[in-house]
Amino acid sequence: MFKSVKSLVPTLTRFRVLIQIVTLFLTVWGSVVLGHYMANKISTALPALSCAYDKQNGGFCILVPLQHQMHHRIGESVVKAQKIAFEVLLPTLISMGTFLAFFFVLGKAFCGWVCPLGTVQEWINKIGRRLGRPQHQLEDKNARRTRPIKWLLLLGLVFLIPILAGGGVAPHSLGNPYCDICPSRIVTTLLTADTEELALKTQNGFSMALSGFADILTGFVLVAALAMRQPFCRICPMLAMNAVFRHASLTRLVKVRSEKCEKCGICTKACPMDIPEIHHESGRKAFNEDCTLCGRCAEFCPDDGVISIKFGPWAVFSSSREYYKKRLKMETPEGNPKPIKFVRKNEVAGNVS
Ligand code: SF4
Ligand code: SF4
Ligand code: SF4
Repeated sequence: MFKSVKSLVPTLTRFRVLIQIVTLFLTVWGSVVLGHYMANKISTALPALSCAYDKQNGGFCILVPLQHQMHHRIGESVVKAQKIAFEVLLPTLISMGTFLAFFFVLGKAFCGWVCPLGTVQEWINKIGRRLGRPQHQLEDKNARRTRPIKWLLLLGLVFLIPILAGGGVAPHSLGNPYCDICPSRIVTTLLTADTEELALKTQNGFSMALSGFADILTGFVLVAALAMRQPFCRICPMLAMNAVFRHASLTRLVKVRSEKCEKCGICTKACPMDIPEIHHESGRKAFNEDCTLCGRCAEFCPDDGVISIKFGPWAVFSSSREYYKKRLKMETPEGNPKPIKFVRKNEVAGNVS
């Protein structure tokens, strides 16, 4: 190749100069000869300082689109990314991080020991019992059938609809649909003597329907709690949320595989969530997604060390025969053999040895 060039031009330098003249012509006056369109196509493909401010040239310098891209695409994207990072990702990470840290330590004990709506339901149930209201316990199959509802509420009302509302697919007023129907919002604000959350929201049809539904649901939960333990907890999306992390949490329920367990079923009868697995499973399966870590199964299990609440490697509370007898006496006032359900078939309340 170089040999043939050599025969045409005496030196490489002269050959280079020739090329420079052609490209100078092309990049400065190129459009006059080739037409702007053609020159533009050629010069934009070249990494050349073919100045865009020269009206007769063959297009523009690569640095122009580069600056333009930096300015309008990258620069603006960085601002957008910053916006997304600080206004969307960071707050989400902080709330999720706090949530994870919280549940990593407390785990399901949040439900059994902290949640205000859980406490209110429990106290109303105590009132119901004092008033002699007949109590209803869910049968095994019904307890299992109810479980998917909390997952549907979590996925639909906490994740999906808010995302659709944010994307403009669903109405903006559906931005926080779970809060709109949450009985805890109404119950806890009522506890502060604030009745505002009880009022129907009349901004639009959706708000009105959801606030009306929230009032009905809250009323139903409060009345149902008189005759049933923890009625709302069974469908609560928070229960589903912390079910995801229950095995990773430091605080957890452990039922060991043991021959001492006679599958008597007292633990399920004592369980406010009517969980059948606690009496016929052991290991990971016994710590069910519906568990609120209230510890009643451990309190009423008549066998030593079968059920425990653990924090890390330490057992905070373990079932024991002695504790069971004490607890049974508290549940069985003198001369009243009523809580027969907490006694094994071959035993008599008040006479458990
Ligand atoms: S299940 Fe829901 S309502 Fe019940 S105690 Fe847990 S968070 Fe509270
Ligand atoms: S109460 Fe104790 S012994 Fe009875 S089924 Fe439950 S874990 Fe087993
Ligand atoms: S399984 Fe035990 S700790 Fe869990 S909710 Fe039932 S009684 Fe409470």
